[in-house]
Order: sequence, then C-alpha cells, then structure tokens
Amino acid sequence: MGMWHQQLSGPTDPARDAGWGQERQARKGFFTDTSICIGCKACEVACKEWNTLPMDGDLSILGMSYDNTGQLGSTTWRHVAFVEQTAERIASARASGAALVDLGMPSRRPGEGASPPSGAQMVPPAVTATGAEVPDFRWLMASDVCKHCTHAGCLDVCPTGALFRSEFGTVVVQADVCNGCGYCVPACPFGVIERREESPDQRSADRVGVAQKCTLCYDRLDAGMTPACAKACPTTSIQFGDHEEMRRRAHERVQVLHEQGLTEARVYGGNEHDGVGGTGSVFLLLDEPEVYGLPPDPIVSTARLPEMFRSAGFAATGMLAAAAVAFLGRRR
Ligand code: SF4
Ligand code: SF4
Repeated sequence: MGMWHQQLSGPTDPARDAGWGQERQARKGFFTDTSICIGCKACEVACKEWNTLPMDGDLSILGMSYDNTGQLGSTTWRHVAFVEQTAERIASARASGAALVDLGMPSRRPGEGASPPSGAQMVPPAVTATGAEVPDFRWLMASDVCKHCTHAGCLDVCPTGALFRSEFGTVVVQADVCNGCGYCVPACPFGVIERREESPDQRSADRVGVAQKCTLCYDRLDAGMTPACAKACPTTSIQFGDHEEMRRRAHERVQVLHEQGLTEARVYGGNEHDGVGGTGSVFLLLDEPEVYGLPPDPIVSTARLPEMFRSAGFAATGMLAAAAVAFLGRRR
C-alpha cells in the first residue's frame, strides 16, 4: 500500500516513481518571488522566443488591465499577472487586519479618473504594517507558470504517453506524440495546460491541435542551461535550481517579509502534504492565492482514489450480500 499510495498523493520523489534509475537528477524547480516582480514581462517574451510560440493577437491591451496576454494558455507558457486592486479590495484586507504591501507602481487617488496618472500624481511607494495608511489602489505582479506538480493530473490521464515525467522531476509534453484528445485539460487543477486551436502565425503551425504548456525548458536543462524565463528575469523574481533549495529560499524570504510586518506574505506550492503533493514551481505571494487567480486548495483526482475504491468496495459487498439474502430466501 505504501509505495502504491505514494503514486497517488503525498510526498514522494516523482522521477524515482516514474522509473528513472541512474539518469535521475536532483529535482529541479522554480522559486518565483512576487514581492520583487516589476511586471516587465521579460520572462514571457523569453519563453516565446525560445519555444517559438506565436504572439497572442495584436498589441492591444485587454481593456480591463495593462496586461496584454490575460492568462496562461497554449501560446503563453509564462504569464505575468497584473493584479489591480481597488480601494474596496484593499479596505476588505484592512478590515481583516492584513498587512499590505505596495510595489511602488503608478497609482491614483479617488476621483483622479480611471487611468493611473503620470509620474507627478504617483502615490509614493509605501510598505505598511497593519493599521498604517495604505494606497487607495495597488498593483500586485506575479509571473505564473506550470506548477510541475508532484502528482500531476495532466500526466495521470494522458492515454498516449505524450505527457511524461522527466529525469529532473518535471512534466513535459511531446507535441509529436499528443493525439489532441484534450483529457489533460480538465485534469489540471490549476487550469494550466491547453489544446492549441489555431496558430495566429506560421511560427508553430505544426503544434496546432495538440496540448501545450511549459516544459521547464527540458531542452535547456538537458544542456545544463538555465530556463529562458529565469535567465531573462532582471530582478531575480524567477529563480531556478534544485527544488529543495527553492523551497528553502521561499520559506526564508517569507520569514524576512514577516519580520518587516508583511504578515500576508506566504509560500504557495511548498507544502508536500497538499492536494498535489507539493509543486515543483514554488511561489511567494503577497496576498491570498485567489487574489492572483490561483486555487487555494488544489487537489489531483488520484488523491481521492483509495477513498473511492473503498466506497465502491463497500457498495459492491452490500449488493452481493443483499443478492445472497434474496436468493437464499427464495429457496426456503
Ligand atoms: S500544473 Fe497542471 S499542467 Fe502543470 S504539471 Fe500540474 S497538472 Fe500538469
Ligand atoms: S521554463 Fe522554459 S518553457 Fe517554461 S515558462 Fe520558462 S521559458 Fe517557458
């Protein structure tokens, strides 16, 4: 039961479980520190360049944000979320006694119009503890990516083996093996993987109709290189390395921020006892996961399998017992 159970949920070494022997490497992952992300999107661009991903539409913005890509998808394997919070959201955080952080981005005061103003009207950068004055508008930035889950729902349901666990413990899609069934799409608890419906340009027309997501730059790792997004990040908001080291850095950084009064800072994905056995991509968030569009309690469907089999077993035993009683009763 122990070994089998490990394959379904909880802490484990995913590369070992996948059968990697001598080729197995130390598990690799990211630590994305959103407290120092400046929203430059260099990581998004580097990812597109390296992986020959097509652009997402034209250069217009979404109309509800300065973000121009919106979400992770088959053509956006790294996405820098711009979380724009109004006074109302900040007020609710105030009411809960949460400490707030402002990243010093352009901001506006009530009645100054819909758009963030020019530099002359900027609210000065401020890091405030609970109860201190806070801006009436704030931006949080976070570079999102595939979580490279310890127990990956996408990989579990793939019927062709197009999704596989690499020797680095990462989850990789092979475009030329994917049959485009799309089973992996609803199986991902983070909404990361997507089937590409069309190619807006000719750069990757060969990958139309197949599932796509971050490979954690498997080709670069194989050559001993740093993933393109981490290499391009100018603030070290995206750090790459051994998974254990990434987790350690995340916890240390949270401790530092807590000491500075930022008590809402938290590690996301670093708990190997969560619903996906922890994630290879670990994040430091400055507010609740939902604020960044992340599920607060992701769970892989296999985690419930033992419970489901047990319930099915009880039901089958009950039905057999009822059938036996009915059969014996008729014979008397
Ligand atoms: S985040 Fe989704 S796509 Fe990425 S490994 Fe986990 S289940 Fe798969
Ligand atoms: S690791 Fe590579 S594929 Fe994944 S987001 Fe970064 S650049 Fe893109």
